[in-house]
Amino acid sequence: MERIDVAIIGGGLVGCAAAWRLAAGGASVALIEARDINSGASGQNAGSLHFQIERRFLENGDALAGQAADIVALSRIAVDDWRAIEGDLGADLHVSMQGGLMVAETAEEVALLERKAAREGREGLSVRTIDGDEARAIAPYLSPGVLAANFSSDEGHADPRAVTPVLAEAARAAGASIRTQSRVQSIAQVGGRFAIRGDRLDLTADRLLVAAGAWSANICALLNIHMPLYPVALLMNATERTRPMVPHLIQHVGRRLSLKQTYAGNMLIGGGWPSRLAQTPDGGFDPWAKAIMIPESLTGNLRAAVDIVPDVARLNLIRSWTGVTAISADQLPVVGEVPRMPGLWVAAGGSAFTLGLTFARLIADAMAEGSAPALAPLSPARFEHLNGFMG
Ligand SMILES: Cc1cc2nc3c(=O)[nH]c(=O)nc-3n(C[C@H](O)[C@H](O)[C@H](O)COP(=O)(O)OP(=O)(O)OC[C@H]3O[C@@H](n4cnc5c(N)ncnc54)[C@H](O)[C@@H]3O)c2cc1C
Repeated sequence: MERIDVAIIGGGLVGCAAAWRLAAGGASVALIEARDINSGASGQNAGSLHFQIERRFLENGDALAGQAADIVALSRIAVDDWRAIEGDLGADLHVSMQGGLMVAETAEEVALLERKAAREGREGLSVRTIDGDEARAIAPYLSPGVLAANFSSDEGHADPRAVTPVLAEAARAAGASIRTQSRVQSIAQVGGRFAIRGDRLDLTADRLLVAAGAWSANICALLNIHMPLYPVALLMNATERTRPMVPHLIQHVGRRLSLKQTYAGNMLIGGGWPSRLAQTPDGGFDPWAKAIMIPESLTGNLRAAVDIVPDVARLNLIRSWTGVTAISADQLPVVGEVPRMPGLWVAAGGSAFTLGLTFARLIADAMAEGSAPALAPLSPARFEHLNGFMG
Protein backbone atom coordinates (compact mmCIF):
# COMPACT_ATOMS: atom_id res chain seq x y z
CA MET A 1 0.00 0.00 0.00
CA GLU A 2 1.28 3.44 -0.99
CA ARG A 3 2.17 5.87 1.89
CA ILE A 4 2.00 9.64 1.47
CA ASP A 5 1.96 12.75 3.67
CA VAL A 6 -1.29 14.34 2.52
CA ALA A 7 -4.24 12.97 0.54
CA ILE A 8 -6.65 15.53 -0.90
CA ILE A 9 -10.14 14.54 -2.04
CA GLY A 10 -11.58 16.86 -4.69
CA GLY A 11 -10.04 18.22 -7.88
CA GLY A 12 -11.69 21.64 -7.77
CA LEU A 13 -10.00 24.97 -7.17
CA VAL A 14 -9.54 24.35 -3.45
CA GLY A 15 -8.07 20.85 -3.79
CA CYS A 16 -5.78 21.75 -6.70
CA ALA A 17 -4.52 24.93 -5.02
CA ALA A 18 -3.86 23.03 -1.80
CA ALA A 19 -2.06 20.26 -3.71
CA TRP A 20 0.16 22.87 -5.37
CA ARG A 21 0.97 24.70 -2.13
CA LEU A 22 1.61 21.51 -0.14
CA ALA A 23 3.72 19.82 -2.83
CA ALA A 24 5.70 23.03 -3.36
CA GLY A 25 6.36 23.01 0.38
CA GLY A 26 7.91 19.54 0.14
CA ALA A 27 5.03 17.24 1.19
CA SER A 28 4.24 14.07 -0.75
CA VAL A 29 0.68 14.68 -1.98
CA ALA A 30 -1.98 12.71 -3.82
CA LEU A 31 -4.99 14.57 -5.20
CA ILE A 32 -7.97 12.28 -5.81
CA GLU A 33 -10.82 13.32 -8.14
CA ALA A 34 -13.83 11.17 -9.04
CA ARG A 35 -14.26 12.71 -12.49
CA ASP A 36 -11.95 15.14 -14.32
CA ILE A 37 -10.20 18.15 -12.81
CA ASN A 38 -12.61 21.12 -12.61
CA SER A 39 -15.79 19.02 -13.08
CA GLY A 40 -17.51 20.50 -10.01
CA ALA A 41 -18.51 24.01 -8.99
CA SER A 42 -15.04 25.38 -9.76
CA GLY A 43 -15.67 24.92 -13.48
CA GLN A 44 -19.34 25.98 -13.46
CA ASN A 45 -19.30 29.20 -11.49
CA ALA A 46 -19.58 32.89 -12.31
CA GLY A 47 -15.91 33.68 -11.75
CA SER A 48 -16.67 36.72 -9.59
CA LEU A 49 -13.94 37.92 -7.27
CA HIS A 50 -16.24 39.63 -4.81
CA PHE A 51 -14.65 41.03 -1.69
CA GLN A 52 -17.58 43.13 -0.43
CA ILE A 53 -19.91 41.46 2.09
CA GLU A 54 -22.22 39.31 0.01
CA ARG A 55 -25.89 40.07 -0.40
CA ARG A 56 -26.81 36.63 1.00
CA PHE A 57 -25.35 37.73 4.34
CA LEU A 58 -27.46 40.90 4.34
CA GLU A 59 -30.89 39.55 3.44
CA ASN A 60 -31.59 37.87 6.79
CA GLY A 61 -30.95 40.63 9.30
CA ASP A 62 -28.00 41.68 11.39
CA ALA A 63 -26.86 38.35 12.90
CA LEU A 64 -25.59 36.91 9.63
CA ALA A 65 -24.14 40.26 8.56
CA GLY A 66 -22.07 40.14 11.77
CA GLN A 67 -20.73 36.72 10.80
CA ALA A 68 -19.91 37.96 7.34
CA ALA A 69 -17.59 40.49 8.92
CA ASP A 70 -15.59 37.48 10.18
CA ILE A 71 -14.58 36.70 6.63
CA VAL A 72 -13.83 40.28 5.59
CA ALA A 73 -10.34 39.75 7.00
CA LEU A 74 -9.95 36.76 4.67
CA SER A 75 -11.27 38.76 1.74
CA ARG A 76 -8.49 41.29 2.30
CA ILE A 77 -5.93 38.47 2.10
CA ALA A 78 -7.68 37.05 -0.97
CA VAL A 79 -7.23 40.38 -2.81
CA ASP A 80 -3.46 39.93 -2.51
CA ASP A 81 -3.60 36.24 -3.47
CA TRP A 82 -5.52 37.04 -6.67
CA ARG A 83 -3.24 39.93 -7.56
CA ALA A 84 -0.23 37.60 -7.26
CA ILE A 85 -1.54 34.36 -8.77
CA GLU A 86 -0.81 34.89 -12.47
CA GLY A 87 2.78 35.85 -11.64
CA ASP A 88 3.15 32.94 -9.21
CA LEU A 89 1.91 30.43 -11.79
CA GLY A 90 3.32 32.14 -14.89
CA ALA A 91 -0.06 31.77 -16.61
CA ASP A 92 -2.85 33.94 -18.02
CA LEU A 93 -5.97 33.16 -15.99
CA HIS A 94 -7.87 36.18 -17.34
CA VAL A 95 -7.78 37.79 -13.92
CA SER A 96 -9.27 41.27 -14.19
CA MET A 97 -9.50 43.39 -11.04
CA GLN A 98 -10.77 46.76 -12.28
CA GLY A 99 -13.26 47.32 -9.46
CA GLY A 100 -16.75 46.26 -8.51
CA LEU A 101 -20.01 48.12 -7.91
CA MET A 102 -22.78 46.80 -5.69
CA VAL A 103 -25.79 48.85 -6.73
CA ALA A 104 -29.04 49.97 -5.06
CA GLU A 105 -32.33 51.03 -6.65
CA THR A 106 -34.42 52.02 -3.58
CA ALA A 107 -33.91 54.22 -0.53
CA GLU A 108 -33.96 51.12 1.73
CA GLU A 109 -31.23 49.53 -0.37
CA VAL A 110 -29.15 52.71 -0.20
CA ALA A 111 -29.40 52.59 3.62
CA LEU A 112 -28.29 48.94 3.50
CA LEU A 113 -25.27 49.91 1.38
CA GLU A 114 -24.34 52.58 3.92
CA ARG A 115 -24.58 50.15 6.86
CA LYS A 116 -22.58 47.56 4.92
CA ALA A 117 -19.80 49.99 3.99
CA ALA A 118 -19.57 51.14 7.62
CA ARG A 119 -19.18 47.53 8.77
CA GLU A 120 -16.59 46.83 6.06
CA GLY A 121 -14.70 49.98 7.04
CA ARG A 122 -14.53 48.80 10.66
CA GLU A 123 -13.01 45.52 9.38
CA GLY A 124 -10.42 47.33 7.25
CA LEU A 125 -11.95 46.75 3.80
CA SER A 126 -12.00 49.90 1.73
CA VAL A 127 -15.46 50.33 0.15
CA ARG A 128 -16.89 53.73 -0.88
CA THR A 129 -20.58 54.65 -1.05
CA ILE A 130 -21.23 56.80 -4.12
CA ASP A 131 -24.44 58.26 -5.55
CA GLY A 132 -26.00 57.19 -8.84
CA ASP A 133 -24.35 59.94 -10.89
CA GLU A 134 -20.90 59.07 -9.59
CA ALA A 135 -21.62 55.37 -10.23
CA ARG A 136 -22.58 56.21 -13.84
CA ALA A 137 -19.45 58.36 -14.21
CA ILE A 138 -17.41 55.23 -13.37
CA ALA A 139 -19.74 52.83 -15.20
CA PRO A 140 -21.71 54.73 -17.91
CA TYR A 141 -23.55 51.54 -18.90
CA LEU A 142 -25.54 51.55 -15.61
CA SER A 143 -29.24 52.32 -15.74
CA PRO A 144 -30.65 55.69 -14.58
CA GLY A 145 -32.52 53.63 -11.96
CA VAL A 146 -29.34 53.04 -9.98
CA LEU A 147 -29.57 55.38 -6.96
CA ALA A 148 -26.23 54.55 -5.34
CA ALA A 149 -23.48 51.94 -5.20
CA ASN A 150 -20.72 50.63 -3.01
CA PHE A 151 -17.48 50.71 -4.97
CA SER A 152 -14.56 48.43 -4.20
CA SER A 153 -11.53 49.08 -6.38
CA ASP A 154 -10.19 45.54 -5.92
CA GLU A 155 -13.11 43.47 -7.17
CA GLY A 156 -13.22 41.77 -10.53
CA HIS A 157 -13.29 38.33 -12.06
CA ALA A 158 -11.21 35.45 -13.38
CA ASP A 159 -11.83 32.59 -15.79
CA PRO A 160 -13.27 29.50 -14.02
CA ARG A 161 -12.34 27.31 -16.99
CA ALA A 162 -8.67 28.33 -16.81
CA VAL A 163 -7.81 28.67 -13.13
CA THR A 164 -8.21 25.15 -11.74
CA PRO A 165 -6.57 23.21 -14.60
CA VAL A 166 -3.52 25.51 -14.34
CA LEU A 167 -3.39 24.93 -10.57
CA ALA A 168 -3.55 21.16 -11.15
CA GLU A 169 -0.64 21.40 -13.59
CA ALA A 170 1.35 23.47 -11.09
CA ALA A 171 0.64 20.83 -8.42
CA ARG A 172 1.81 18.07 -10.77
CA ALA A 173 4.95 20.05 -11.64
CA ALA A 174 5.66 20.47 -7.91
CA GLY A 175 5.49 16.69 -7.48
CA ALA A 176 1.87 15.99 -6.52
CA SER A 177 0.29 12.83 -7.90
CA ILE A 178 -3.02 13.68 -9.61
CA ARG A 179 -5.51 10.78 -9.73
CA THR A 180 -8.57 11.53 -11.85
CA GLN A 181 -11.51 9.17 -12.55
CA SER A 182 -10.92 7.76 -9.07
CA ARG A 183 -13.86 8.00 -6.71
CA VAL A 184 -13.11 7.53 -3.00
CA GLN A 185 -15.37 4.84 -1.57
CA SER A 186 -14.00 4.08 1.89
CA ILE A 187 -11.75 5.69 4.46
CA ALA A 188 -10.56 4.07 7.67
CA GLN A 189 -8.25 5.22 10.43
CA VAL A 190 -5.46 2.69 10.84
CA GLY A 191 -2.67 3.36 13.33
CA GLY A 192 -3.29 7.10 13.25
CA ARG A 193 -3.18 7.20 9.45
CA PHE A 194 -5.98 7.43 6.90
CA ALA A 195 -6.40 4.36 4.69
CA ILE A 196 -8.21 5.51 1.55
CA ARG A 197 -9.69 3.18 -1.02
CA GLY A 198 -11.57 3.75 -4.25
CA ASP A 199 -11.34 3.23 -7.98
CA ARG A 200 -7.71 2.12 -8.66
CA LEU A 201 -6.83 3.62 -5.29
CA ASP A 202 -5.27 2.11 -2.18
CA LEU A 203 -3.10 4.43 -0.11
CA THR A 204 -2.47 5.67 3.41
CA ALA A 205 -1.86 9.27 4.37
CA ASP A 206 -0.81 11.07 7.56
CA ARG A 207 -3.30 13.79 6.78
CA LEU A 208 -6.49 13.95 4.76
CA LEU A 209 -7.93 17.18 3.31
CA VAL A 210 -11.58 16.98 2.29
CA ALA A 211 -11.99 19.55 -0.50
CA ALA A 212 -14.94 17.86 -2.15
CA GLY A 213 -17.31 20.84 -2.40
CA ALA A 214 -20.95 19.75 -2.31
CA TRP A 215 -19.86 16.16 -1.58
CA SER A 216 -17.78 17.02 1.49
CA ALA A 217 -20.42 15.91 4.01
CA ASN A 218 -20.55 12.49 2.29
CA ILE A 219 -16.77 12.12 2.59
CA CYS A 220 -16.87 13.09 6.28
CA ALA A 221 -19.67 10.53 6.77
CA LEU A 222 -17.22 7.83 5.57
CA LEU A 223 -15.31 8.72 8.75
CA ASN A 224 -18.46 8.71 10.93
CA ILE A 225 -18.49 12.49 11.23
CA HIS A 226 -21.41 14.88 10.69
CA MET A 227 -20.34 17.98 8.77
CA PRO A 228 -23.24 20.37 8.11
CA LEU A 229 -22.47 21.18 4.48
CA TYR A 230 -25.36 20.97 2.05
CA PRO A 231 -25.53 20.95 -1.75
CA VAL A 232 -27.30 23.88 -3.41
CA ALA A 233 -27.88 24.33 -7.13
CA LEU A 234 -27.54 27.68 -8.85
CA LEU A 235 -28.22 29.13 -12.30
CA MET A 236 -25.76 30.83 -14.67
CA ASN A 237 -26.30 32.52 -18.04
CA ALA A 238 -24.02 33.72 -20.82
CA THR A 239 -24.84 36.08 -23.69
CA GLU A 240 -23.24 36.25 -27.09
CA ARG A 241 -19.99 38.22 -27.35
CA THR A 242 -20.07 41.98 -27.73
CA ARG A 243 -17.62 44.91 -27.78
CA PRO A 244 -15.77 45.66 -24.50
CA MET A 245 -18.36 47.48 -22.44
CA VAL A 246 -18.38 46.34 -18.80
CA PRO A 247 -14.91 46.30 -17.22
CA HIS A 248 -16.30 45.97 -13.67
CA LEU A 249 -18.01 43.34 -11.56
CA ILE A 250 -21.63 44.41 -11.01
CA GLN A 251 -23.66 43.13 -8.06
CA HIS A 252 -26.95 44.25 -6.51
CA VAL A 253 -27.52 44.75 -2.79
CA GLY A 254 -31.26 44.02 -2.91
CA ARG A 255 -31.73 41.68 -5.87
CA ARG A 256 -29.90 38.55 -6.97
CA LEU A 257 -27.51 39.73 -9.66
CA SER A 258 -23.90 39.40 -10.64
CA LEU A 259 -22.84 40.58 -14.08
CA LYS A 260 -19.48 40.83 -15.76
CA GLN A 261 -17.97 40.69 -19.24
CA THR A 262 -15.51 37.92 -19.91
CA TYR A 263 -12.19 38.47 -21.68
CA ALA A 264 -13.84 36.98 -24.81
CA GLY A 265 -16.72 39.49 -24.68
CA ASN A 266 -19.64 37.43 -23.31
CA MET A 267 -21.76 38.82 -20.49
CA LEU A 268 -21.94 36.32 -17.62
CA ILE A 269 -25.14 36.75 -15.61
CA GLY A 270 -25.80 35.04 -12.30
CA GLY A 271 -26.14 36.09 -8.69
CA GLY A 272 -27.50 33.12 -6.77
CA TRP A 273 -30.79 32.29 -8.51
CA PRO A 274 -31.82 28.77 -7.46
CA SER A 275 -32.07 25.63 -9.56
CA ARG A 276 -33.60 22.38 -8.31
CA LEU A 277 -31.30 19.62 -7.05
CA ALA A 278 -31.95 16.12 -8.32
CA GLN A 279 -33.38 13.84 -5.63
CA THR A 280 -32.61 10.25 -4.74
CA PRO A 281 -35.52 7.78 -4.48
CA ASP A 282 -35.19 7.68 -0.67
CA GLY A 283 -35.67 11.44 -0.29
CA GLY A 284 -32.08 12.69 -0.29
CA PHE A 285 -30.40 15.02 -2.75
CA ASP A 286 -28.06 13.84 -5.48
CA PRO A 287 -25.28 16.35 -6.24
CA TRP A 288 -23.84 14.04 -8.95
CA ALA A 289 -26.93 14.43 -11.14
CA LYS A 290 -27.64 17.55 -13.23
CA ALA A 291 -29.75 20.10 -11.36
CA ILE A 292 -32.97 21.20 -13.04
CA MET A 293 -33.39 24.76 -14.26
CA ILE A 294 -36.31 26.78 -12.81
CA PRO A 295 -37.94 29.01 -15.47
CA GLU A 296 -38.75 31.78 -12.94
CA SER A 297 -35.07 31.92 -11.97
CA LEU A 298 -34.10 32.42 -15.59
CA THR A 299 -36.56 35.24 -16.21
CA GLY A 300 -35.88 36.84 -12.81
CA ASN A 301 -32.13 36.82 -13.35
CA LEU A 302 -32.33 38.28 -16.85
CA ARG A 303 -34.86 40.93 -15.70
CA ALA A 304 -32.46 42.06 -12.96
CA ALA A 305 -29.59 42.21 -15.48
CA VAL A 306 -31.57 44.32 -17.99
CA ASP A 307 -32.86 46.66 -15.27
CA ILE A 308 -29.29 47.46 -14.17
CA VAL A 309 -27.39 47.25 -17.48
CA PRO A 310 -30.05 48.05 -20.13
CA ASP A 311 -27.74 47.36 -23.11
CA VAL A 312 -27.77 43.68 -22.18
CA ALA A 313 -31.32 43.52 -23.61
CA ARG A 314 -29.82 43.79 -27.12
CA LEU A 315 -27.73 40.63 -26.70
CA ASN A 316 -28.75 37.05 -27.43
CA LEU A 317 -28.59 34.56 -24.62
CA ILE A 318 -26.42 31.68 -25.84
CA ARG A 319 -26.20 29.39 -22.83
CA SER A 320 -27.78 28.79 -19.42
CA TRP A 321 -26.53 26.11 -17.04
CA THR A 322 -26.82 24.87 -13.50
CA GLY A 323 -24.00 24.13 -11.06
CA VAL A 324 -23.92 22.55 -7.62
CA THR A 325 -22.00 24.05 -4.74
CA ALA A 326 -21.91 23.69 -0.93
CA ILE A 327 -23.43 25.87 1.78
CA SER A 328 -22.86 25.34 5.49
CA ALA A 329 -25.38 25.49 8.33
CA ASP A 330 -24.30 29.04 9.24
CA GLN A 331 -23.34 30.15 5.68
CA LEU A 332 -19.67 30.58 6.58
CA PRO A 333 -17.14 28.24 4.94
CA VAL A 334 -15.83 25.33 6.99
CA VAL A 335 -12.03 25.36 6.89
CA GLY A 336 -9.56 23.76 9.26
CA GLU A 337 -8.69 20.62 11.20
CA VAL A 338 -11.50 18.60 12.79
CA PRO A 339 -10.80 18.64 16.54
CA ARG A 340 -12.16 15.15 17.26
CA MET A 341 -10.05 13.57 14.48
CA PRO A 342 -6.52 15.06 14.33
CA GLY A 343 -5.15 14.85 10.81
CA LEU A 344 -8.56 15.30 9.16
CA TRP A 345 -8.92 18.71 7.49
CA VAL A 346 -11.92 20.18 5.70
CA ALA A 347 -12.15 23.12 3.28
CA ALA A 348 -15.62 23.56 1.79
CA GLY A 349 -18.57 25.88 1.54
CA GLY A 350 -18.99 29.57 0.82
CA SER A 351 -17.62 31.49 -2.12
CA ALA A 352 -14.56 29.37 -2.63
CA PHE A 353 -13.75 30.71 -6.07
CA THR A 354 -12.97 34.08 -4.47
CA LEU A 355 -11.52 32.63 -1.27
CA GLY A 356 -10.21 29.22 -2.38
CA LEU A 357 -6.63 30.29 -3.13
CA THR A 358 -6.47 31.81 0.33
CA PHE A 359 -7.94 28.73 2.05
CA ALA A 360 -5.33 26.58 0.30
CA ARG A 361 -2.38 28.78 1.19
CA LEU A 362 -3.46 29.13 4.82
CA ILE A 363 -4.10 25.40 5.18
CA ALA A 364 -0.59 24.68 3.86
CA ASP A 365 0.77 27.22 6.38
CA ALA A 366 -1.27 25.70 9.20
CA MET A 367 -0.11 22.17 8.39
CA ALA A 368 3.51 23.38 8.38
CA GLU A 369 3.35 25.75 11.35
CA GLY A 370 0.58 24.31 13.53
CA SER A 371 -1.97 27.09 13.04
CA ALA A 372 -3.23 29.87 10.78
CA PRO A 373 -5.05 32.45 12.92
CA ALA A 374 -6.95 33.93 9.95
CA LEU A 375 -8.81 30.63 9.57
CA ALA A 376 -9.98 30.51 13.21
CA PRO A 377 -13.55 31.85 12.58
CA LEU A 378 -14.09 29.13 9.97
CA SER A 379 -12.95 26.17 12.08
CA PRO A 380 -15.05 23.00 11.98
CA ALA A 381 -14.77 23.12 15.80
CA ARG A 382 -18.00 25.18 15.78
CA PHE A 383 -19.89 22.03 14.73
CA GLU A 384 -18.31 19.63 17.26
CA HIS A 385 -21.63 19.47 19.16
CA LEU A 386 -23.17 17.62 16.21
CA ASN A 387 -20.73 14.76 16.73
CA GLY A 388 -21.18 14.24 20.48
CA PHE A 389 -23.15 11.03 19.88
CA MET A 390 -21.20 9.75 16.90
CA GLY A 391 -18.91 7.35 18.77
C1 LIG B 1 -23.42 28.50 -10.54
C2 LIG B 1 -22.39 28.85 -9.48
C3 LIG B 1 -21.88 30.15 -9.44
C4 LIG B 1 -20.91 30.48 -8.48
N1 LIG B 1 -20.33 31.71 -8.54
C5 LIG B 1 -19.29 32.01 -7.72
C6 LIG B 1 -18.59 33.22 -7.85
O1 LIG B 1 -18.87 34.00 -8.74
N2 LIG B 1 -17.58 33.49 -6.98
C7 LIG B 1 -17.26 32.64 -5.97
O2 LIG B 1 -16.37 32.95 -5.18
N3 LIG B 1 -17.88 31.44 -5.85
C8 LIG B 1 -18.87 31.10 -6.71
N4 LIG B 1 -19.48 29.89 -6.61
C9 LIG B 1 -19.02 28.95 -5.59
C10 LIG B 1 -17.72 28.31 -6.06
O3 LIG B 1 -17.87 27.85 -7.37
C11 LIG B 1 -17.36 27.16 -5.13
O4 LIG B 1 -17.34 27.62 -3.79
C12 LIG B 1 -15.97 26.59 -5.44
O5 LIG B 1 -15.80 26.37 -6.81
C13 LIG B 1 -15.79 25.29 -4.67
O6 LIG B 1 -14.57 24.70 -5.07
P1 LIG B 1 -14.17 23.31 -4.45
O7 LIG B 1 -12.83 23.00 -4.96
O8 LIG B 1 -14.36 23.38 -2.97
O9 LIG B 1 -15.29 22.28 -4.96
P2 LIG B 1 -15.63 21.71 -6.42
O10 LIG B 1 -15.11 22.56 -7.48
O11 LIG B 1 -17.10 21.41 -6.41
O12 LIG B 1 -14.80 20.35 -6.46
C14 LIG B 1 -15.12 19.24 -5.65
C15 LIG B 1 -14.71 18.00 -6.41
O13 LIG B 1 -14.79 16.86 -5.52
C16 LIG B 1 -15.01 15.75 -6.34
N5 LIG B 1 -15.51 14.63 -5.53
C17 LIG B 1 -16.69 14.54 -4.87
N6 LIG B 1 -16.79 13.35 -4.25
C18 LIG B 1 -15.66 12.66 -4.52
C19 LIG B 1 -15.19 11.36 -4.18
N7 LIG B 1 -15.92 10.50 -3.43
N8 LIG B 1 -13.96 10.97 -4.63
C20 LIG B 1 -13.19 11.81 -5.38
N9 LIG B 1 -13.62 13.06 -5.74
C21 LIG B 1 -14.83 13.48 -5.32
C22 LIG B 1 -16.06 16.25 -7.34
O14 LIG B 1 -16.09 15.45 -8.50
C23 LIG B 1 -15.58 17.67 -7.61
O15 LIG B 1 -14.82 17.77 -8.80
C24 LIG B 1 -20.49 29.52 -7.52
C25 LIG B 1 -21.02 28.23 -7.56
C26 LIG B 1 -21.95 27.89 -8.53
C27 LIG B 1 -22.48 26.48 -8.59
